[in-house]
Amino acid sequence: MRRPILVCASALLLLPVTSRAQEPNDSKMGAKPPEGAVVLFDGKSLDGWVKSDGKSPAHWPIEDGAFTVAMKKGGIQTARKFGDIQLHVEFNVPLMPEAKGQARGNSGVYLDGTYEVQVLDSYGLKPQKNDCAAVYLQVAPRVNACKPPLQWQTYDITFHKAVLEGGKVTKKARVTIVHNGVTVIDDAEVGTTPGGVGTKEGEDGPIMLQDHGNAVQFRNIWVKPL
Ligand code: MG
Repeated sequence: MRRPILVCASALLLLPVTSRAQEPNDSKMGAKPPEGAVVLFDGKSLDGWVKSDGKSPAHWPIEDGAFTVAMKKGGIQTARKFGDIQLHVEFNVPLMPEAKGQARGNSGVYLDGTYEVQVLDSYGLKPQKNDCAAVYLQVAPRVNACKPPLQWQTYDITFHKAVLEGGKVTKKARVTIVHNGVTVIDDAEVGTTPGGVGTKEGEDGPIMLQDHGNAVQFRNIWVKPL
């Protein structure tokens, strides 16, 4: 008599786990840098970041452990270049109810200086190739894992740069994106996207944050070379 009850209980326990895997969650919020990681922003200083000229100190304002895009003044990038990486970024898009589409909370995290992981207020939308967590115009997220604006969100990104043989790309770059704890892009091949710093495929490049004229905030950024 007891066995059917146990089976039912197990089935009930599995259901929420399955659906939760698609829902944004804070399992990666505040993730600590693992051994071998480079801290790119610890809440205090943008040392290690430069303006788009590649040398002047980064100028985006820091307050309360986060920094904000200095609008219409250009992106910032790491002084150091990276190849294959594991990257953690936390971001917060502003509330812009009057703005639409690409004008609503837009920034971007450029991998290798040239592959944009879109940052946008895409809350509640059907995923498209230009939405938040997309590799811009290349790969759409599998599901929409966005939170509403004004909430902190997480990216945990694994990137492998393109492979060159004899100066030619024989294997494209590959990206996995975990957005708010949900894997939305899984080891997808990607080509370069517009607006980067011009790194050639297969070369090392900086991590760049885009100034798209919106006051997006960032905090807790670290990168682990793989
Ligand atoms: Mg963007």
